[in-house]
Amino acid sequence: MDRLTRALEESEEERSVLAKKIFDFGEHFIGSLQQQNAYNSYEASPLKKNIFAIDRELSKIDDILEILNESLIKPGLNTATGRNMGYIPGGGLYSAALGDYIAAVTNKYAGVHYASPGAVSIENEVIAWTAKLVGYAEGYGGNLTSGGSIANLIALLTAKKAKKVKAKDIHRTVIYCSTQSHHSILKAIHIIGLEECIIRYIKTDNNYRIIPLELKTQIQSDRKSGLIPFLVIANAGSTDIGAVDPLISIGSIASRQSVWFHIDAAYGGFFLLTERGRKKLTGINMADSVILDPHKSLFLPYGSGIVLVKNIKHLLKANEYTANYMQDAFSNGNYSPSELSPELSKHFRGLRMWLPLKLYGHKAFADYLNEKLDLAFYFYTNCKKLGFEVLSIPDLSIVAFRYVVNNGDSNEFNKRIIKEIQNDGKIFLSSTTIDDKFMLRAAIVSFRTHKEDVDILLTLLKNVLP
Ligand SMILES: *Cc1c(COP(=O)(O)O)cnc(C)c1O
Repeated sequence: MDRLTRALEESEEERSVLAKKIFDFGEHFIGSLQQQNAYNSYEASPLKKNIFAIDRELSKIDDILEILNESLIKPGLNTATGRNMGYIPGGGLYSAALGDYIAAVTNKYAGVHYASPGAVSIENEVIAWTAKLVGYAEGYGGNLTSGGSIANLIALLTAKKAKKVKAKDIHRTVIYCSTQSHHSILKAIHIIGLEECIIRYIKTDNNYRIIPLELKTQIQSDRKSGLIPFLVIANAGSTDIGAVDPLISIGSIASRQSVWFHIDAAYGGFFLLTERGRKKLTGINMADSVILDPHKSLFLPYGSGIVLVKNIKHLLKANEYTANYMQDAFSNGNYSPSELSPELSKHFRGLRMWLPLKLYGHKAFADYLNEKLDLAFYFYTNCKKLGFEVLSIPDLSIVAFRYVVNNGDSNEFNKRIIKEIQNDGKIFLSSTTIDDKFMLRAAIVSFRTHKEDVDILLTLLKNVLP
């Protein structure tokens, strides 16, 4: 056979040219972050029609990078800057990106232990490190997911299997959470076929934390009326305002009532690296399942979540399968990620987390997270000084605030503030609605956010006031 295949296997020199141009592109991006906006609206920088079209004509790498520079980098949110304080930022560690590079170049198969004992062991090490942080003893199971939503999905499916929820009982099966629960929880409930369950939103206190007595009373009264209490979901750092539910009290209630206890620590989990965080999150090890998002409070690039289940048996049960063509795969006594999640072939996600932890150690992360807690308190104090109403002292590093106008519509006024800030673009903030109040949020999570960035925000806020 004449060999027609060449194009996809670059020569050493071709690789070196490509790599240099792409690494230079990355350098230029990081080097100019200080000058970049945190937000460019689509209206201000719309995409040219067909700019990304894949056509018959080949493109030169320089032209491709030019297109990416204009049409990928510019429009929308710049999640890599420290001035992105909308939603829940993370940042995207450079060393993690380099970990991804190695993962992709070697294309190690992280789904099955025998295919790459090294890759699976690196993933297991990352999971073990996180399980230890959470305070789980031996016997736990875990999986690296693409994010918190899938991690929640796996956890809730595991709960459903462990508690043997039967189709005929779904209409009288009860799930307990609060209005602070992330929407991915409801999405997961739908996906796993439990949308006909009864969902109880337990009353929260002034700091938007579940009131344990309300939970206990509700579970008891549900049981009395013949319903089946099944699952309670607590937040360890809610998305809206970073609220941490009273985990110990909820954990005791769940355990006494034989209800599955799930904790959503997607945003808050890695604050366990700090002393203040550990205090706030005491009781997290009581959870039957817990999720964390390394692409939030561990600053990794998007595509990193973790689910942990206290008893691996339940995680195995929820994902068990057999297939003839997999008969060689499970012989050496080591669990594989594919037995603990819905995925088979998957990105080798462990390396992007393992590499920064190996290079810089967990203390570096603790220092950064402590800085975020300090900055959030600094912002809270100064924002109040400017005359803003702040919902509560931040539990972690998210502050929800608004300006109350004496005569006129406060919601309209705060909507105008957010528009002005987004139009300016230097800083990006997002908003939320809590108890019918339109609130602005400053989520201080990115590793690149430092005091000077928070000061820019405070100045902006000062200037938008009447
Ligand atoms: C972000 C978040 C999620 C969803 O995680 P993704 O990684 O965006 O899928 C779930 N719960 C909480 C509390 C979150 O902050």
